[in-house]
Amino acid sequence: MDFVEQLKSSVDIVQVIQEYVRLRKAGANRYTGLCPFHNEKTPSFSVNTLHQRYKCFGCGAGGDILTFVMELERLSFYEALKLLAERNGIPMPKRSEYSDPETKLRAALYQMHELAEQAFRANVEGPVGAEARAYVERRGVAQATAAEFGLGYAERSGRGLVRLFEKHDFTGEQMEKSGLVLKRDDGSLYDRFRHRLMFPIQNESGKIIGFGGRALDPNEQAKYLNSPETEIYRKSYVLYNLHRAKHGIRQADRVVLVEGYMDVIGVYASGVHEVVASCGTALTSQQVQTMKRHSEKIVVNFDPDAAGANAAERSLNMLLDEGMHVRILALDGGLDPDEYCKQRGAEAYTEKLTAAKNYFYWLADRARGKFDMRTAEGRVAGFQFLLLSIQRLSDKLERLAVVNDVAGYLGVDAGPVLESFRRAASERREKTLQHAAEPVKAVERILLNLLLVNPEARTRLLPHLKNIPAVNQFTTRRIFEALFALDAAGNAVVFGNRALLASTVLADETDGEVFSLEQGEACLRAIENTQHDSERAALKAQVRAAERDGNMNEALRLSAELSRIERS
Ligand SMILES: [Zn+2]
Repeated sequence: MDFVEQLKSSVDIVQVIQEYVRLRKAGANRYTGLCPFHNEKTPSFSVNTLHQRYKCFGCGAGGDILTFVMELERLSFYEALKLLAERNGIPMPKRSEYSDPETKLRAALYQMHELAEQAFRANVEGPVGAEARAYVERRGVAQATAAEFGLGYAERSGRGLVRLFEKHDFTGEQMEKSGLVLKRDDGSLYDRFRHRLMFPIQNESGKIIGFGGRALDPNEQAKYLNSPETEIYRKSYVLYNLHRAKHGIRQADRVVLVEGYMDVIGVYASGVHEVVASCGTALTSQQVQTMKRHSEKIVVNFDPDAAGANAAERSLNMLLDEGMHVRILALDGGLDPDEYCKQRGAEAYTEKLTAAKNYFYWLADRARGKFDMRTAEGRVAGFQFLLLSIQRLSDKLERLAVVNDVAGYLGVDAGPVLESFRRAASERREKTLQHAAEPVKAVERILLNLLLVNPEARTRLLPHLKNIPAVNQFTTRRIFEALFALDAAGNAVVFGNRALLASTVLADETDGEVFSLEQGEACLRAIENTQHDSERAALKAQVRAAERDGNMNEALRLSAELSRIERS
């Protein structure tokens, strides 16, 4: 048996995927969960334990354990193989037949980062590390914690790593590409990090891919210095501490997002294990999607100063765009998370986290500070400020509920609030049309209209629609999802209030047209046909991929499945 087959047969696909995605048992040989490769609210991602394969009916992603790790960790075939082998204690064959030049470079970079971390740690324990040790102690970090987070020290000389890498026969080019070493005009090499306390940055599977360095010299201009982007460090994908935090995140079903390395360490050490930070970048959509695989709930806890609040406001928009449920914690006493944990204790901090307010209350409080809410103009301006974020909620029903809540909280009459909300929505709609963005297809429009205003259509169509994965591709899928959820909960209240719903939710999508049940059923058939087409296309692509990989048995099996579908 070749090594790839050996590995695949000895590693369980559910265990591997569960490291990245929350899965639920859905049948004898089947698990389902939210797809990590596209944004969705209802699970269309499924894992088959019998065939040891995964498949997403929403976006068409599919494959085996290796393709999963390759796609998700953005690794080459060889790297994915190595990662799975290492993680499961299976020795890799010596031949590196799977390795291409790019993979070899990346392997060198990983190795250099490991060597650098060892060197930094040896420094911090030795005589040169006295100042770094004093700083760590002053910040109240226990020795065990410092060791767990791999804190180290980059010496002053600026030659430490260069010498170490030369000793291990790395080339100048490899050193430069590691981001840990820089080149002077005269061609000589020197260390990027000098006289700094070093924080290793790991990827989701725990490999060191970069460093953050805190200046120990108070006159140093750059307080924090981070590794640059390299072949192994893509900043927009990385969250500091995620590899340690992810199990905690699953357990607590929430992410705690803080700003800096020291905050992460302080909060983690106090027993709140679900804490991460975006290191050295503004929060990106990839980072949010990464969190979302482990929990959709987040508490943002940035510094209490103006800069922290502004950063929280910017992150908020990104988080809402990705459909996260956001609460914001503003700590009292001007304390940052690290200081709060140390001064008030872990229990007080946990209580604060649990009591953190929904983001729009926090925003409303900010609006109150920014605008004079005693005057009509002030209230309108304050409300406009809030609308900017509320409009980012992709779920229109949720948007409506939030608007009502905020109006109540601000003591504003909900009527004009809703009117202003509707106006903003239609202005946005006009803008979107001008930019020729994704239009709402006629089938979606007709079906939605029927579902909202026609009880009979709802009874006849909803059960079918629920089972068609193509609905996940709709522009208006969030409204469909909300309707499915309401239907499942037997919730007739909102349906009862359909005049409001139809006018508010669909103000920008229908113009008072009335559709018949027959039209609705025709739409349903059209969607079912599209669904079959896309399933056939996905299967064909899989057949081609299997042929390309020389996996003839798999190609034959898939072809048989394809012709079975085409016959039916
Ligand atoms: Zn998908």
